[in-house]
Amino acid sequence: MAGFIRVITGGMFSGKSQELICQIDKARASGNPVDVCYPRIAERQSPRDIQGRVMAMDDQSGVQLFALGTDEFSFGTIRHKLLSEIIAIDEAQFFSPHIVDVVKKWRHEGRCVLIAGLDMDYLEQPFGSMGDLMCLADDVVKLHATCSSCHDKPAFISHRVSPSLHQVEIGETNYVALCLECHRKLCSGDRQRKEEYGALRETARHPS
Ligand SMILES: [Zn+2]
Repeated sequence: MAGFIRVITGGMFSGKSQELICQIDKARASGNPVDVCYPRIAERQSPRDIQGRVMAMDDQSGVQLFALGTDEFSFGTIRHKLLSEIIAIDEAQFFSPHIVDVVKKWRHEGRCVLIAGLDMDYLEQPFGSMGDLMCLADDVVKLHATCSSCHDKPAFISHRVSPSLHQVEIGETNYVALCLECHRKLCSGDRQRKEEYGALRETARHPS
């Protein structure tokens, strides 16, 4: 069998894991066992996580779940763990850059690799190895959520609502999906509030 790499990507809430689970189910229904892996740090016991979605499948026969450390994605470490012809990887942006070589080798071995992951972080930077994986892929599916503010335009930005500045801040409650226009409005609103707050503090310090 010829190897194949498919990348399913997009922002938060764009339906990446749902698309991945559809493809896993299709492969399973055709009688092909699937190994599904995801980074252990993304384990949140939510029904929307890939493990929750696998558990909710009507028929899970032939599907095996693996929670891996983010550095565990070296070929020597996982080649003896993931043995199916079809391998599905969720939240691929969190894995170390070794994932690129591993996926390449799997394709040379004739395996089919289905990858889902965030395209960009909240600062609009390519996330982890997703850019490299997209270059490598035979097929890229890019999905968009609908903007959670105007409920009209496609969302391009996973806007972080929590104050943390770390690249990795896990949890859907920390983000909203926004289109460019709503994101711009929100950010200028933030700036205006900060300026007003600064002016208020100055007035309090130096009352006229
Ligand atoms: Zn919008």
